[in-house]
Amino acid sequence: MNADANSEIGRLVIFSGPSGVGKTTVLAEIFKRCQRPLMMSVSATTRPQRAGETAGVSYHYLSDQEFKQRIENDAFLEFTEVFGRGHWYGTLKETVQAGLTEGKWVILEIDVEGAQKVLKHHPDAITIFVHPGSAEELERRLRGRGTESETELQRRLEVAQRELDMAKLYEHIVINQSVEQTATDICQILESVE
Ligand code: 5GP
Repeated sequence: MNADANSEIGRLVIFSGPSGVGKTTVLAEIFKRCQRPLMMSVSATTRPQRAGETAGVSYHYLSDQEFKQRIENDAFLEFTEVFGRGHWYGTLKETVQAGLTEGKWVILEIDVEGAQKVLKHHPDAITIFVHPGSAEELERRLRGRGTESETELQRRLEVAQRELDMAKLYEHIVINQSVEQTATDICQILESVE
């Protein structure tokens, strides 16, 4: 299908929030209840696959070399090294364009830095930030998840603090106190947008 900008009929939705805030769980709930043709954009990453994740669904897992090749081929809408430790993440242009052309509401679950880059090309994107309420609450949830080492956890908390400071750049900020309520609030936002 031709993927020029004029054929775009879907919407782009940027969905951010610090690691551990519960974005993945909230997104799963939104997909169940929202009356919009939602589609997740599957990002590429060089970070290792976690238990419970599925290649091609959670992420496209690439080697450093494969990721570099895609940068050279201009395959990314945006890419960034999210936690400053050599793990790269990127949004694939082709995935996004294919979804928009099909009329999908394409959800990018990306960090604040990536969001700023995407907004330069798609200023009309809907931006939603999922907030934990406080930094202390986030630490409690991240520890509860138990998927990171202490060093990795500290790094994520540092990044999270910077992300929380940038929440004000988003059009919608939703505090995640209960998954159901947060999903309902976000559905309302999506369903009220023209
Ligand atoms: P995780 O390693 O926990 O799956 O994701 C870590 C962070 O990377 C999350 O904040 C997530 O939003 C962000 N992320 C995932 N994919 C992308 C992407 O394609 N681009 C950018 N900029 N950030 C991403």
